[in-house]
Amino acid sequence: MNNIKVIVAGPRGRMGSEALRMIEKEDTFDLVACVDHKYNGLRVSEVEGLPAFEAFIFEDIEECLQTTDADVLVDLTTPEVGYKHTKLALQHGVRPVVGTTGFTTEQLDELKQLAEEKGVGAVIAPNFAVGAVLMMQFSKWAAKYFPDVEIIERHHDQKLDAPSGTAVKTAELIQEVRESKKQGHPDEKETIEGARGADHDGMKIHSVRLPGLVAHQEVVFGSSGQNLTIKHDSFHRESFMSGVKLSINQVMKLNLLVYGLENILE
Ligand code: NAP
Repeated sequence: MNNIKVIVAGPRGRMGSEALRMIEKEDTFDLVACVDHKYNGLRVSEVEGLPAFEAFIFEDIEECLQTTDADVLVDLTTPEVGYKHTKLALQHGVRPVVGTTGFTTEQLDELKQLAEEKGVGAVIAPNFAVGAVLMMQFSKWAAKYFPDVEIIERHHDQKLDAPSGTAVKTAELIQEVRESKKQGHPDEKETIEGARGADHDGMKIHSVRLPGLVAHQEVVFGSSGQNLTIKHDSFHRESFMSGVKLSINQVMKLNLLVYGLENILE
């Protein structure tokens, strides 16, 4: 079988550079290009701190997609850029594997429709860490018995979107099994705006941003006389790379968009 030809967008980022290191170790993946908004025309190896790949860097994603023979685009950039890249990749028949978070529901619906129209596989996963996917699944299970739940997510302070994609996805999974319910006292009032966190179908999501953190989440269930806490910590970005690797392999077998790593785990 031929190697899978991969483009990485965001190669200098914390996740993107980790993805390059993962591809470097993988015999079955070839890095064929990178997309960045700096260093146009340089080889990846010429950029300080990046692995010694001969692949070229493109500032223009369309030029990259038109001139490079690629199977997969791995996007690890920012919400607006990632959305644009995913759309263009689908239009050019290159399968997106997207870790970038912060897409709106409308954007996700539009991308799902486009993938189906074009018959091009895509994976969008707000969390590539297998432990985090299990945390979300266990939370969905627990919510059947504990409908009162609050989500506390903690991330490094350079994160652009809040709440995290994982927190939103967790809330959506819980919503599937939990009857819609506004939690807390019916007359509760915030004396400082935002004190009770963001509201998703009556459950609260709290976002903590501090230097030193990577990606952490607690899902706290409350009931009379007992609490249940389901917690996951990513201490290093390497924790996401087995999910990126799995998604690159699986997206080659898909002809539609799959949202969430749990939907491609065996
Ligand atoms: P980061 O370190 O800020 O990396 C983002 C990279 O994208 C930066 O190198 C940035 O360059 C680059 N960039 C900005 N505009 C670009 C453009 N037009 N074309 C190409 N590259 C561009 O962020 P990160 O921590 O790696 O996270 C990246 C994304 O992944 C975020 O959305 C984050 O929430 C998400 N994430 C997902 C997972 C998961 O498991 N799915 C896990 C962690 C993070 P400059 O710095 O020069 O602007």
